[in-house]
Amino acid sequence: MLVEFECPKCKGHACEMWGLDSPSTSTRLMYWHMVLNPGLAINELVLGQRFPKNLYNCKSCTTPLYERSWVHCPECDTFHSGMIWSGKNAFKHWLGMFCPSCGGEIPCISNYTTRAILALTKPFWHGQVERKRALLTREARKQIAIDGNALQKPREPVDFKKMGLKWGLFMYLVFAFIFPPLLALGMGEFTLRNVGIMMVISLVIGPLVWFPAGMLYGSWMKLALNKQGDENMHIAMNEDGSVAPMQIEDNQE
Ligand SMILES: [Zn+2]
Ligand SMILES: [Zn+2]
Repeated sequence: MLVEFECPKCKGHACEMWGLDSPSTSTRLMYWHMVLNPGLAINELVLGQRFPKNLYNCKSCTTPLYERSWVHCPECDTFHSGMIWSGKNAFKHWLGMFCPSCGGEIPCISNYTTRAILALTKPFWHGQVERKRALLTREARKQIAIDGNALQKPREPVDFKKMGLKWGLFMYLVFAFIFPPLLALGMGEFTLRNVGIMMVISLVIGPLVWFPAGMLYGSWMKLALNKQGDENMHIAMNEDGSVAPMQIEDNQE
């Protein structure tokens, strides 16, 4: 589906679309990482964290990235601030992400490990979840989104160092305790001794890898999330839908 972007804030039309098929390599990598990293299945399955299939980042808002990042509802064609699903409202979305305007379902990406686990355990949850979903009226779904939005507090400055270290610690624990048994199973060498050896190696070597990786991740997020748009990218449309000529002010030098 081709979505025509109009920023709810600055009414600009230029945006950078993020997703699995995003034109930018680093964004594509970030999205594929969310789909492929088995560790992130925990975020999805246990914590109920979801990522919309596409994010539309306005290129002409002169605010940090998180304030110019929009989620599109395909059912009512509305763009909502991505901040609605941040902070406390980032979690518990097991049944899906819903539009605060119409209660429609916002398409999300799904981690491959999550999909495999869900497929294997389907008999245990499918009936119950489907019943729950069927009970959710459009109004109820809308209310979930509105209540979630109300959980938001004014945003405090992000501590990127802490964010990076938390991510590093998370990856460390995943690679120390979850990865070894999976790897042993995958290699067909699943014995307590093998798993134990791999865990000890991961526990010892882990900090050398994940501490610097966490610091790097923090700095990268700081660069990426604070990046501001450019008002020169403001493209306005004429009434007939054609692009209006840009009015660039002379910069006095
Ligand atoms: Zn904008
Ligand atoms: Zn909607």
